[in-house]
Amino acid sequence: MRTIILTIAFISSLTNIFGQTEKSELTISHLTGDFYIYTTYNTYKGNQISANGMYLVTNHGVVMFDTPWDTTQFQPLLDSIKLRHNKNVMLCIATDFHADRTGGLEYYRKQGIKTYTTKQIDEFCVKKGMKRAEFLIHTDTSFTIGQYTFQTYFPGQGHTAVNIVVWFKKEKILYGGCLIKSVDDDDLGYLGDANVKDYATTIKNVQQKCPNPKFVIVGHGDWTNINSLGHTLIMAQQLKKKNYR
Ligand SMILES: [Zn+2]
Repeated sequence: MRTIILTIAFISSLTNIFGQTEKSELTISHLTGDFYIYTTYNTYKGNQISANGMYLVTNHGVVMFDTPWDTTQFQPLLDSIKLRHNKNVMLCIATDFHADRTGGLEYYRKQGIKTYTTKQIDEFCVKKGMKRAEFLIHTDTSFTIGQYTFQTYFPGQGHTAVNIVVWFKKEKILYGGCLIKSVDDDDLGYLGDANVKDYATTIKNVQQKCPNPKFVIVGHGDWTNINSLGHTLIMAQQLKKKNYR
């Protein structure tokens, strides 16, 4: 591993020498306390798109929310976490069935990480040929890992029929995944699996269940602006109006 890291460092210093600004393939940003946001990139419709996930450092190991979209970054993410915190990832929860959430589930399971998703998400993983989690939860579930407690919540259909969010009630952190769009987004993004009719109601359910969040983590793009929730609601209401008069 050391050799690989050194090689990468050497290559990136070379690109610096030649004045190129090569975009990092994996970005890790501190959110607050023991919470970190990791971002990887992939190409969608010819554009480079970012995908956000989160991890939480507890005194019982690291909990990961969703997996990298970029399949080359599964192990680098584990290595970066180990290097930075000297802890292993022990649990990973996928919040939807698309590849930007589930891509690494099989890989992480093979590394001995306990992978989770809901029974409903797993049914779509099977149907759509996505990677699957080892353990399935059948209803909204409260997890206590080390000193932290969080709850998974299915607020209704939106981005997909089975999308869930994760709510840290004490820390007031809403991990929204692909259901919540960034304030920079002009539309609700990929709607091929979406429920346009229910989307707005589902966002209202999130707002009710997760009041006054301090942080709202979106699936793609800027996660630093908590107006993402209200912005998503407005777009969902407009889309519904357009489609169901
Ligand atoms: Zn997504």
